[in-house]
Amino acid sequence: MNGQVLVEVEGVSRFYGKTAAVADVSFLIRRGEVLGFLGPNGAGKTTTMQMLSGNLAPSQGRISIAGRDLLENPTDAKRHIGYLPEYPPLYRELTVDEFLDFCAGLHGLSGKERKAARERAKARCGLAEVGGRLTGHLSKGYQQRAGLAQAILHDPDVIILDEPTVGLDPIQMREMRSLIRELGREHAVILSTHILPEVRASCDRVQIINGGRLVLNERIPDLDRRMQSSVLTVTFRRRPSLEALAALPGVGAVTPEGETRFKLFHDPSADPTEALIKLATEHAWGIYEISPEHQSLEALFVELTGQAGEA
Ligand code: ATP
Repeated sequence: MNGQVLVEVEGVSRFYGKTAAVADVSFLIRRGEVLGFLGPNGAGKTTTMQMLSGNLAPSQGRISIAGRDLLENPTDAKRHIGYLPEYPPLYRELTVDEFLDFCAGLHGLSGKERKAARERAKARCGLAEVGGRLTGHLSKGYQQRAGLAQAILHDPDVIILDEPTVGLDPIQMREMRSLIRELGREHAVILSTHILPEVRASCDRVQIINGGRLVLNERIPDLDRRMQSSVLTVTFRRRPSLEALAALPGVGAVTPEGETRFKLFHDPSADPTEALIKLATEHAWGIYEISPEHQSLEALFVELTGQAGEA
């Protein structure tokens, strides 16, 4: 059932000595959702992923996976989790088939069930042709796919991916992102990254963590609406009347950028472009350039974390 809450994180903190790597973090992830977890180096992404996957105990707080408390019923809760850590946990001397069979065994699958799970995961991750190859001999992209196949083998409700595209070439990256999108249709997926365009390419919602605290949790369409342009840069051939520009509907302020270049700050819901063209034509000011300035996710990231993300 899409929309069902599959991950519930409530007031989770993790201390190392007196330092909080993660501090009082709460959020939900629903089935059918891909959540992008962004943050600068050392922000607490991996620590959060490790706690969500049941590999690290929180110092405080509660995590529930598909309705099961991860601390009280770890074995039961972990059955519903697939985890791809930052470095895929491969046994280099095993073939892809042997590796996936071994992992299926760990999930308690045997015989026909095991083979079916292995073949399904291989097909989903584009590994059908390489079942007999040693994982240690695969390219980085294929090793990542084998890591992902391991994570989805038991058809878990929740898929946790720690920096899934690190080290991939642009084509492999695109394939991995489309696979993540596809998985997101039926599962709840959380992926951590510091590649900003990755979030737009793969995610429905973005969370930004900084210094262990969540500083943003927003759906991508809401974010886009919030980041709608509210500034127009305009260049004229002849110097216009500043008063006339400032009087355009929706325009709050006009600042000169040069003799004939101006920035018009306007209400995001009232784009003055049409009225501006009409006015410029009436007065023969001659428009050279009108360009809306969109606030980028990058700018928002810098504003919230004080650090640059990877473009
Ligand atoms: P990156 O993008 O660099 O991987 P991150 O967001 O994943 O960073 P974490 O690895 O979660 O960040 O680390 C968060 C903070 O906790 C950092 O300040 C880190 O130094 C600290 N930390 C992580 N693991 C330990 C540990 N085992 N002992 C002490 N401090 C730790």
